[in-house]
Amino acid sequence: MKLALFNDFQLGVIVDDIIYEIGSHLFSRFHQGIGFCPMVQLIAEFDTYRSKIEKKLHEYPAYALTDVRLRQPVKKPGKIVAAPVNYVSHQKEMKVEHTARGLGFFLKAPSSIIGPNDTIVLPDPNRRFDHELELAFVIGKTAKNVKAENAYDYIFGYTGLMDVTLRPDEMHHEERCLRKSFDTFTPMGPWIVTKEEVADPNNINMVLTVNGEVRQRVNTKEMICSVAELLEIYSHIMTLEPGDVITTGTPDGVGPIHDGDVVSMEIEGIGSYSVRVSLAPNAAVLR
Ligand code: MN
Repeated sequence: MKLALFNDFQLGVIVDDIIYEIGSHLFSRFHQGIGFCPMVQLIAEFDTYRSKIEKKLHEYPAYALTDVRLRQPVKKPGKIVAAPVNYVSHQKEMKVEHTARGLGFFLKAPSSIIGPNDTIVLPDPNRRFDHELELAFVIGKTAKNVKAENAYDYIFGYTGLMDVTLRPDEMHHEERCLRKSFDTFTPMGPWIVTKEEVADPNNINMVLTVNGEVRQRVNTKEMICSVAELLEIYSHIMTLEPGDVITTGTPDGVGPIHDGDVVSMEIEGIGSYSVRVSLAPNAAVLR
């Protein structure tokens, strides 16, 4: 199943070029308080809702996919857990000693999320900001101390994520967490493809272009830690909850983005989207 949030964060199921609005039929408005995300609600009780959705799909309001604004498929995840240096090719280009196996993870601010078709806003005209192409997965069930062989029981589905990054330089040595947490630095989408439609997340081709020029191209079999291993490592440190996003790291080819660029990503069997890049109108030099 392909699931998206669209327009005012309504919940939809996509079939071919049509999106069916299902959220207002599944969830009572009474329960929709501040912070409510219909996708997370659906994920948490997917076993209950799934057959209802499948049976009633054609009774729900339908829109042409081209007529709606797709949003990030989780409005604001509880956490975005990100693998640093999870491809040998990226380790080599960065000339760093350690990989995700030793470094573990960093966290990106949930407020850094934007949707497909939104705009990455660069905060400083004098610093370098890079694109990073990543496959991400969304947690489906509360996961603590999960072994890799059981990892897929806890995964809901997959999506495409750009881990936009401020690069350190000779004068600046900010933590990863700061460098990757600016508002708009986590484009995500275009939707979530549920796990049963993805044969093997560790064997997926993906590509990222800037203004049509290929910058990154890889198969996820090149990952150092597999999807299941990442879930094992992270769930032994913290409880992973429905709707949390785990992003699996970037291959080589990271490069700078500038005001006016269009950055596109495509993940085989999942989807594609493009975001624009602009310089903040009140851009300031970072200290
Ligand atoms: Mn990354």
